[in-house]
Amino acid sequence: MLKDVSMKTRLQDDVNHLIDEQVVNWPLARQNYDGLKEVKTRSLELLACTEMRVQFNPGRIKSSAAKVDAKSIKERKCFLCQENLPPEQNSVLFKDYLILVNPFPIFPRHLTIPHVQHTDQLISGRISDMMMLARELPDFVIFYNGPKCGASAPDHFHFQAGNKGFMPIEEEFLFHPRKSLLTDRNGARVFSIENYLRKTLVFEGENLDEIESLFSKVYRFLDAIQKDEEEPMLNILCSWENGFWRLFVFPRRGHRPRQFFARGEAQIVLSPASVDFGGVLITPREEDFNKLDEHLVKDIFEQVTLFDSDWPLVKRIFKKLI
Ligand SMILES: [Zn+2]
Repeated sequence: MLKDVSMKTRLQDDVNHLIDEQVVNWPLARQNYDGLKEVKTRSLELLACTEMRVQFNPGRIKSSAAKVDAKSIKERKCFLCQENLPPEQNSVLFKDYLILVNPFPIFPRHLTIPHVQHTDQLISGRISDMMMLARELPDFVIFYNGPKCGASAPDHFHFQAGNKGFMPIEEEFLFHPRKSLLTDRNGARVFSIENYLRKTLVFEGENLDEIESLFSKVYRFLDAIQKDEEEPMLNILCSWENGFWRLFVFPRRGHRPRQFFARGEAQIVLSPASVDFGGVLITPREEDFNKLDEHLVKDIFEQVTLFDSDWPLVKRIFKKLI
């Protein structure tokens, strides 16, 4: 146990040093982390315990508007492969993952964590990696964007991470009046949150294997109802605190809302991913930042979160386990 604690401290320390070094020595990172201080934010209070912060962040245009169709992906050099990383970019190795400073930040401390090999963005078999990363980086929330759920490199497996205390969901969950316990067994609990704009499952506990096994039950169910997808559409946030993990899982039915593809006035360049589901909506264009209101935010989430009709079926998976 003691060994675990010292390992955790060491990786977190190494990563803190990496960030401090990169924002000094890498001009692109320095400029963009400095620029973050100018980013505009405003807050929409949509329902009880449901805040959405809107962030106008022009540096994210490449990611939000990324072309992720097979042809575009094939025609570009993979920006997460080691041989294509900028010469100024340094890394810290954790298992088979490179921990990198994200040069286009949303968070004041923002990491990209690609696998060392060029391999598809598929979460199956990697939940335990995600949980171990969260335990070794206790200052961060680790997140996963599925290949059609916000990942701008669907051809190269990667997590991202952002400093804790940034996304409203971290605190809202603790006090939400409509969270309900679906199951509690072997050191793992599963909750749902109702009336929260997006369908949300929360897995928490100290038992890694049990959480992984409970997650795989949802994964298999969603996989069965989304047969045409390479993996069920989802986003995941994962953190470690006080000796246990917490994972927010957002099952989805849509990639980008119709406003993304609209022309002229009706267009909104917003491509929902983990951070948006965590309660911070990223708009790279100022007109979208000004336009977003309660009505539009509700409409956008309705289009991308799981169908109402599938939600009771997901929750029933856990009720059967009690
Ligand atoms: Zn690659």
